[in-house]
Amino acid sequence: MHTKNPFNFKYTYLSLPDKFYSLVKPEYFPQSELVLQNKNLCEELKLTTQNREDLLDSILIKQSNSRATPYAQAYAGHQFGHFTKLGDGRAIVIGEHLTETEQLFDIQLKGSGRTAFSRSGDGKATLKAMLREYLISEAMHHLNIPTSRSLAVIKTGDTVYRELVQDGAALVRVMKSHIRVGTFEYAARFTSIDDLIVFFNYTAKRLYPEVLQDENPVLSFLKKVIEIQIDLVVEWMRVGFIHGVMNTDNTSISGETFDYGPCAFMNSYHPDTVYSSIDRNGRYAFGNQPNIIKWNIARFAEALLPIIDKNQEKSLSLAQATIDEFDAIWQKKYYGMMLKKIGIQANESENYHLVDELLDLMKKLKLDYTNTFRNLSVALLSEHSSNMSPELETWFVKWKEKINKSEGKERAVQMMNDTNPIVIARNHLVEKALDQAVIGNLEPFEKLLTILSKPYQNQGGIEEFMKPSELDFEIKYQTFCGT
Ligand code: AMP
Ligand code: MG
Repeated sequence: MHTKNPFNFKYTYLSLPDKFYSLVKPEYFPQSELVLQNKNLCEELKLTTQNREDLLDSILIKQSNSRATPYAQAYAGHQFGHFTKLGDGRAIVIGEHLTETEQLFDIQLKGSGRTAFSRSGDGKATLKAMLREYLISEAMHHLNIPTSRSLAVIKTGDTVYRELVQDGAALVRVMKSHIRVGTFEYAARFTSIDDLIVFFNYTAKRLYPEVLQDENPVLSFLKKVIEIQIDLVVEWMRVGFIHGVMNTDNTSISGETFDYGPCAFMNSYHPDTVYSSIDRNGRYAFGNQPNIIKWNIARFAEALLPIIDKNQEKSLSLAQATIDEFDAIWQKKYYGMMLKKIGIQANESENYHLVDELLDLMKKLKLDYTNTFRNLSVALLSEHSSNMSPELETWFVKWKEKINKSEGKERAVQMMNDTNPIVIARNHLVEKALDQAVIGNLEPFEKLLTILSKPYQNQGGIEEFMKPSELDFEIKYQTFCGT
């Protein structure tokens, strides 16, 4: 039977020197079945068919006449500060889908078996972990945060051996590009300067072609990535998202959040919040994310040094001067966003103390990061602050005066409601939904996903979804990498 390929696949990455990839086909899983399909994303990508069998067959490259040449990408990375040679150990780009509007998207299969870069890993993924990535990445998308998307989850019918024996699955992940800081680190350490130049030109042309017109395209590219990564991490700070494993191989050049492993949303505010079981020193804690992105960008700049300028001293001083701008850019963007969370448009340093004081109080009073900002807008409109602690009320009065002198209540509340989500993926709800989904009941998962698809809307009747996780759950809650 002839099946229809939904994708318009290109393989531009294969124009690079072959050190950058390894050709590999997904493992054959005869029992595979599509358990989730993202219809909205199918439409956004203008896939020519949404038929489940066609989609499954083309993703798993089952057609014998397929001209697909899937590949795994080579890369390196600093993991918890240590350099390692890596690569797609359990992922395969099955093709780069070119849309009608000439946008290119990597369609990647994660969990489809070993590749040349698997090292001691099995190349597989568990159903629970892939459903989790699907849920959180789609929640991030609906929060208006740049992210990899999830097109489908395929149950492979295989069993995967972790602490417990689990069902195997593969996720179909979509990104503008999977090129990461670690790919540049790989190019700088393991290829030649000529190859690094080729790789730079490829990436710049694909993601930021405008820099190629600049006097120093490599330096402009570095600046662009600094801006885009600051924008991204500022967005994480807006919604209380903790990525959990910000290794340089998990920092994309496209500025998309990706590699949803041990990530989670914070409940009560504390900058030291960590959920990842392996992050014992809090390297990737909520409040440390800006420091880490700066550190990752410094590794990125190092990788570019050989090609910023032929004179390496000049290269170093240009890169250093660019990195030195990080703190000021961060400060401006971060406070600009935080001020919007409290309804203040003017990004002026004289207003910053209002943000700092509120965060101090939230930390001290262990207030919920999501609900506090929403409660503040309700209190502002109603002028009702009677259920606040005396310290918060003192801040509230000061803040209200500022709002009355600047935006006025209505505009402030509008700004706050556009900035502060009503619902986030609460840890206990995510776990509950996943526990049901892996035993075949997708209903709680679908319901949660539907609610998380409208995070800024008053949906009515969703009080259960707005409640923070219970403290005893939170204290014990741990997330895991690469499961
Ligand atoms: P991550 O923590 O997902 O960023 O993965 C770090 C590295 O380990 C990447 O090179 C992954 O491809 C690889 N990796 C993670 N899990 C597996 C697995 N089960 N089998 C093979 N490689 C893996
Ligand atoms: Mg990774």
